[in-house]
Amino acid sequence: MKNDLLIKDARLFHPDCDLIVDLHIEDGVIRAIGTGLRHAKLPLLCADGRTLLPAFVDLHTHFRDPGYPHKEDITTGSRAAAGGGYTAVSVMANTDPVCDHPEVAEYMHRRAEEAGLVEVYPVGAISRGLLGEKLSDMEGLAPYVWAYSDDGIGVEDDALMLRACQKAASLDRVVIPHCEYADIADKGLAERLMVARDLLLARHTGCRLHVAHVSTAETVEMIVQAREGGRGLTCEVTPHHLCLDRAEADYTVNPPIADRSTRDSLVQSLAEGRIDVIATDHAPHTAADKERGAPGISGIETAFPLLYTRLVKTGLLPLADLVRYMSTHPARIMGLNKGELRVGDDGDVVLIEEDGAFTVNEGTFLSMGSNSPLIGMPLQGKIWATVHKGELIYIDGKVKGRDFDDHRQAV
Ligand SMILES: [Zn+2]
Repeated sequence: MKNDLLIKDARLFHPDCDLIVDLHIEDGVIRAIGTGLRHAKLPLLCADGRTLLPAFVDLHTHFRDPGYPHKEDITTGSRAAAGGGYTAVSVMANTDPVCDHPEVAEYMHRRAEEAGLVEVYPVGAISRGLLGEKLSDMEGLAPYVWAYSDDGIGVEDDALMLRACQKAASLDRVVIPHCEYADIADKGLAERLMVARDLLLARHTGCRLHVAHVSTAETVEMIVQAREGGRGLTCEVTPHHLCLDRAEADYTVNPPIADRSTRDSLVQSLAEGRIDVIATDHAPHTAADKERGAPGISGIETAFPLLYTRLVKTGLLPLADLVRYMSTHPARIMGLNKGELRVGDDGDVVLIEEDGAFTVNEGTFLSMGSNSPLIGMPLQGKIWATVHKGELIYIDGKVKGRDFDDHRQAV
C-alpha cells in the first residue's frame, strides 16, 4: 500500500502532446499511463492539471555527513532533496572521515535508509584523505559506490590519477574529476589543463569519465571532441553557472561564477546537446563558514525553479530538454531504473506548478544551509509534490514525517 498510488489529472510534460493523464504506480513501479485510469484499491492523488515530470536525479551533492552535521546531515539533505523534486542523489566524499574506506560508505547507506526519503548513492574518494598522495581503498569501496572523486580538490599527481583510472576501469566504476590546478590563478586554464590530461587518461585506460561542473564552453568542446573516439565520456554543468553571471551574483563558489558571455556560451552548449547533465553541486554551509569564505551554494531546492525561470520561461531551452538533463541522463549514467515516465520504471515523479511563483527566502530552506545568492529572487516552477517509488515524500512545503498530511484520498 505504501508504494501504491494513482495520480489523477496531471499534465504530461511533453510539448508535442499537451495531455491530461493519470499515472498508476503499484509496488513502486509505473504500471500504466493513460486517461480515465481507475483502480478501486489504490490511494488517489489529484494533480489538478499540475505538470508531471520524472523525478530529478542529482549526480553531485554534498551532504556533510559524517563530520559536519551542523552544516547538513543525511536526513536534512534528504529532506532538501525531496523538496527540490529529487529522488536519488550522489553524495561526494569530502566528509570527515573522508569516504575513502568502506565503513564510511556503509554509514551513509545506513543513515539514508533511516531517513527513508530519497536514494543516497555515495561516491568514494580517489585518494586517501583527499590528500592526492595515495589511492583510497578503491577495491573495498567498490560494492558501496558507483563512482570515485576527490571533488573539491583536483588530483594533481598524474601517476596517481593514471592508477585511479586503471583501477576504476577494472572495477567498472566511473571517475568524476574535479578539474582544477590549485596553483594556477587563471581558473579557466586550470580547468582545461586538467580536463585535457583526464581525457587522455580515460582514453588510455578505458575508464568511464564524468567531468564535474564544467565552467566554460571551451571545456565542453574538448570533451565533445574526445567523445567521438571513446565511450562513457560525460560532463555536467551547475544551475548557477548556467543562470547567473558575476555582475548579478558575486558569490564564492568553485569554479567561480563567470561573466555574462561565458554564461551565455554555456547555455548555448547545453541547448545544442553538448552537455549531458545539470547537477546541483549542493554545498550547504553555516552563515559563519560562509563569512569565512567557504565556497558553495545550498542549491538542491532551488535548482529546478531557477532553471525553469531563467531557461525555459525565456524560451532558451524546452522543458523536455531540461528533463533530459535533470532526470533521464543522470539516471542513465548511474544505471538507475528512473528518469523517464515509462511503464516498468520506478514510480519516481515530481509534480510542478509551472506558474507557481515564489520568492526565495532564507526561512523556507529544508536544507540546514540557506547560503544562496538567490535570496530575494522571484522564481516560478514551484515543486508541488515528489513521489519516490509510489510513496509521497513531499507535498506543498511539507516532507514525509511527523504531522505529514499526505493529501491522498483514502479509499
Ligand atoms: Zn567540485
